[in-house]
Amino acid sequence: MEPARTVSVLLPLAVDGPYTYRQPAGLDLAPGDIVRVPLGPREIIGAVWDDPPDASVGHNRLRPVSHRYDSPPLDETIRKFVDWVAHYTLTPRGMVLRMVLRAPDALEPERETIAVRRTGVLPDRATAARQRVLDLLADGAPWPKSGLAAAAGVSSSVVTSLIEQGVLETFSLPPPPLTAAPDPDYARPVFDDGQDEAAATLRASVDEGAFSVTLIDGVTGSGKTEVYFEALAETLRKGRQALVLLPEIALTNDFLERFTRRFGERPAEWHSELAPRMRERVWRGVASGEVRAVIGARSALFLPFRELGLVVVDEEHDTAYKQDEGVIYNARDMAVVRGHIGGFPVVLSSATPSIESRVNADQGRYRRIVLTSRYAAAKLPDIHAVDLRVTPPEKGHFLAPPLVAAMEETIAAKGQVLLFLNRRGYAPLTLCRACGHRFQCPNCSTWLVEHRFRGQLVCHHCGHTEPRPDRCPVCDAEDSLVACGPGVERIAEEVETRFPDARRIVLSSDILGGVKRMRLEFEAIRKGEADIIIGTQLVAKGHNFPLLALVGVVDADLGLAHGDPRAAERTFQLLAQVTGRAGRAGGESRAFLQTYAPEHPVIAAIASGDREAFYAREIEARRVSGLPPFGRLAGIIVSAADRATAFGYATALRRAAPETGPVMVLGPSEAPLAVLRGRHRFRLLLQAPRNVDMQAFLRSWLTSAPPPRGSIKVQVDIDPQSF
Ligand code: ADP
Ligand code: ZN
Repeated sequence: MEPARTVSVLLPLAVDGPYTYRQPAGLDLAPGDIVRVPLGPREIIGAVWDDPPDASVGHNRLRPVSHRYDSPPLDETIRKFVDWVAHYTLTPRGMVLRMVLRAPDALEPERETIAVRRTGVLPDRATAARQRVLDLLADGAPWPKSGLAAAAGVSSSVVTSLIEQGVLETFSLPPPPLTAAPDPDYARPVFDDGQDEAAATLRASVDEGAFSVTLIDGVTGSGKTEVYFEALAETLRKGRQALVLLPEIALTNDFLERFTRRFGERPAEWHSELAPRMRERVWRGVASGEVRAVIGARSALFLPFRELGLVVVDEEHDTAYKQDEGVIYNARDMAVVRGHIGGFPVVLSSATPSIESRVNADQGRYRRIVLTSRYAAAKLPDIHAVDLRVTPPEKGHFLAPPLVAAMEETIAAKGQVLLFLNRRGYAPLTLCRACGHRFQCPNCSTWLVEHRFRGQLVCHHCGHTEPRPDRCPVCDAEDSLVACGPGVERIAEEVETRFPDARRIVLSSDILGGVKRMRLEFEAIRKGEADIIIGTQLVAKGHNFPLLALVGVVDADLGLAHGDPRAAERTFQLLAQVTGRAGRAGGESRAFLQTYAPEHPVIAAIASGDREAFYAREIEARRVSGLPPFGRLAGIIVSAADRATAFGYATALRRAAPETGPVMVLGPSEAPLAVLRGRHRFRLLLQAPRNVDMQAFLRSWLTSAPPPRGSIKVQVDIDPQSF
């Protein structure tokens, strides 16, 4: 008899260790195999893992693996990646595996589409319902069977009886191929000297066939995308797969077009808006190797590539790469890890690199490619700070005279104007003039934002919505509610009164009609179907608006008000990005920053175009205070249904901290959002020198601390965004 054999299977649950199963006779399992196993009363998908099986469980108590899927196994690099991410973020490994097994139906054989076509004649006169079905098929083209009855507006029995009588016939329609292979030599651009050198460096890094990180640090419009496409082309030539991460799916359309122009075929897409069926196909295509290039959101990093040879992180500084729930990770940092494990190059691209990446480059850990000027005749915009203390807007308005004048000139010259304000809605605060009541979210420690168009007050953190009342709910005064400060809707209102004939587009992430509508609006802007665009940070990122000649930043100081030490970096990046939208296709362009603090180093750096001054200053400030990347940071967020419980546990946790040595523990203090979705939150902040193993410290602390009970939840955030 064969000796009893066992395997470890990691399950996509909040557990760290794999479970041990029996290997049925005739099934030879190896690490990476995707299997189905019994768990309690149900069956679940998991992956055979590298850990040795648990020998302490009696063999007769073990249940057998039920099934192995006919899917390429998860290779060693992705298994190591799962283990690494889990270890680094202090998350159970099963939770990270869950991000890999995101499309479980992809494991089943691909379903064929059953289609219907007309073949026979009707034995008698058609009823109205039958006729509607036949009309749809009149041109001879087949229809998918599942959608036919609905499209004709009849019950499915009408279709069934037509099939039974031989009037219609069913047949199976093979799925169309997902993508053809992109051609690395389809349309190679002609580079200028700087670009040429950059492209050669990137090609060489791919040819090395080893891990490296290259930071492309180039001003907006310098051709960073064209240049990193060369790394992609070289990767495809070598027969390996490539992944490009983008921070915002609203950007993908423009990107898909550019990719197609360069490589002759579309890449596969991966993001949350993908239809389930498409998700399955992409997942399967990536695993089988059919898909050669993927463009995706941060979660694409966890796709089971068969032979990944390059990851590009575009707009690498963007905070959208940080996932804040579930597994808390930064996709830019994890991309570097994936490259390290897989032994391939990683490319980071930005006009405003994160301080972390810039320091890594300065210290020689990353290569740095600098592109200092825009491609061809395009020039960077002339930037002016508008001192609102000197030239304030009229009362009740938000656009100051110099900006309004520039708008008039630009529109007269048929140029496009972008007004940028990073605030959705009409007004960030509504208060009662009679009693001073302010409308606050019942679930969060934030003010409700008026959305006048919808007639609602909305919480931007939990989504709580209430109608905007006519009277004050506290003092019952009539007509006493006033909107304080502007959001994009209010700026749109001012634009409408000042420029009644201009074609306006308001763009924010809560746009009615979602991503589809958003893409249409971006298309309209590119085609010149708008004169004035009013938008939030959604319009600041990466877009190519060829006709844009003027950018007005309504409130350049907005981001600087936060006490967060990262506020300067964020604001610098946002302002450089948004002003960099102007003048990308050549011609004179301008940007105006409305500010009360033109002397602030961030505003001054943007206005003078002196990026290096900003980086030097900011890096020095971080170094002096031991902040990232010169030191390590971690946050622990304790949340609970009520404030006392949350504070009580956070305090107990603090007391249970090991003798800290080099790790400094601060807090508990109220978290940046003290109440979120009805949960009260406190934060402990840990700071340590770079050489300290923060994870080991946290692990020993959290395992020895009193376990959280009841509504208490503890979340570890390694490398928090705000500190
Ligand atoms: P960035 O990513 O640095 O903002 P892009 O790659 O988007 O810059 O390039 C800006 C514009 O210049 C795009 O319209 C791009 O197609 C064009 N461009 C850049 N380099 C070249 C080149 N070598 N040949 C042709 N067009 C180029
Ligand atoms: Zn809320």
